[in-house]
Amino acid sequence: MSIGATAAEKRTVHHLIGGRSVASEDGRTFETRDPHDDALLGTVARGAARDGELAVTAAREAFDAGPWPRMTAAERRTVLHAVADAVDEHRDELALLESHDSGKTLRHARHGEMPRVAQNLRFFADFAALATEEAYPNGPVLGYSLHAPAGVVSAISPWNAPLMLATWKVAPALAFGNTVVLKPAPQTPLTAARFGELALEAGLPEGVLNIVHGYGGDEVAGPLTGDPRVDRITFTGSSATGAAIMAAAAANLTPVSAELGGKSANIVFADADLDIAVPESIRAIFGGSGQVCFAGSRLLVQRSILPEFLERFTAEAEKLVVGDPRQEQTFMGPLIERAHLEKVHGYVELAQREGGTVLTGGGPPADAALSGGHYYRPTVITGLDNDSRTAQEEIFGPVETVIPFDTEEEALRLANTTRYGLAGILFTRDLDRAHRMAARWKAGTVWVNCYFERDLRMPFGGEGISGVGREGGNFSREFFTEPRAVVLRI
Ligand code: NAD
Repeated sequence: MSIGATAAEKRTVHHLIGGRSVASEDGRTFETRDPHDDALLGTVARGAARDGELAVTAAREAFDAGPWPRMTAAERRTVLHAVADAVDEHRDELALLESHDSGKTLRHARHGEMPRVAQNLRFFADFAALATEEAYPNGPVLGYSLHAPAGVVSAISPWNAPLMLATWKVAPALAFGNTVVLKPAPQTPLTAARFGELALEAGLPEGVLNIVHGYGGDEVAGPLTGDPRVDRITFTGSSATGAAIMAAAAANLTPVSAELGGKSANIVFADADLDIAVPESIRAIFGGSGQVCFAGSRLLVQRSILPEFLERFTAEAEKLVVGDPRQEQTFMGPLIERAHLEKVHGYVELAQREGGTVLTGGGPPADAALSGGHYYRPTVITGLDNDSRTAQEEIFGPVETVIPFDTEEEALRLANTTRYGLAGILFTRDLDRAHRMAARWKAGTVWVNCYFERDLRMPFGGEGISGVGREGGNFSREFFTEPRAVVLRI
């Protein structure tokens, strides 16, 4: 594999299997393109099931016979810190690659996501090294717990925060002594591939992190979900794919942690500080061009402030700079690919058929310089019922549905009327209300007067079709280890 330091040169991306850079056995490839102008960025090995099997074999051998699971957590910590240092040293290069491959703004990639990649590694390396076990003295019998590494972990990740979400899985899996096969999304393979090179150079033993590229179903991801030699599957992606993966895993009873889609309510009460609620609500739906699992895509506004709120919210949406993600002033880059743009626009057309009114947006920007990319304007829609398809299905784009409510009880009922359960966002000055609502909100995370604040120790995941299980801190430890009871007569 050759991945250079600049984004301008075309790359040839191979799999990383057993520490070696290899093409697919059948030589097949696919292309990765820049969503800004559709420029070819690289040619990527398209793995078949056979390549997935070889990666699982490499991870299995590294687990069964290699040093990694037998090292102390402190020794693994040293290596993972060296990998994090390498990420920091290559931050600009990784951020540029991520921006070209995914369309996210270079500013966010450089200042938001790449620092989080390094933090994922350091946090879980430290967390594992500091973890304690429990002893259960019981008269002549002494018990204690051991958290043994689970074994081979398959990590399957999406395109919307490619390296950040990949390392959210890889870092805890490695820190707790497992070996890994990572499959990044086919739309965004470049940073994971570069990360694999950096990890090897930084001292990660061969075979401990394997990376394969390609598609799901019966292609490369087949063995990652259906091979009995895999001990854990950690997946982030859509709810439909999550269900397919859980079905494949069921044949071997392989535990799955699934972080899936969302349709989160963002509730604004009349007593909210609108100087906070307006910009945070804007960020919650238009950040990342709306391609964020947590996006506050159902905006519920108390009726008494609806006209004022809508005026301010729409005005702010219209001010957002949509454009080249490498420009400093850009807030929203392009959507990931043409098919996704068509899906998003299809929902805006559906909204109009469902009786909605498009207040702003509803199509690509007029700027001719952007016509080669997959750009879409921030879109605000009113007049829809909470049970319309537009308000119930995940659009995963810059489309906000605004729905009024009168009472706290009604707001909570609307928020919870969804099959998803990923996040809730609430703006109010009434903290009693905030606690009351958080306790009854069907959501893995509830943010009050803020959005996207993350603490890696906290449970992360969703209810309903937004996920199965939680990761983060001890929750990751539970998933990536086998807790064992050891009992001695003394
Ligand atoms: P996706 O489900 O299409 O793909 C995700 C990954 O799964 C990709 O690597 C893909 O190649 C792979 N895959 C697809 N079919 C597979 C199969 N049958 N077996 C194994 N692997 C398979 O999702 P996407 O379009 O890449 O990402 C967007 C989705 O991810 C949205 O629904 C979004 O909400 C969700 N997401 C959730 C979180 C979270 O933390 N809950 C975070 C980010 C994104």
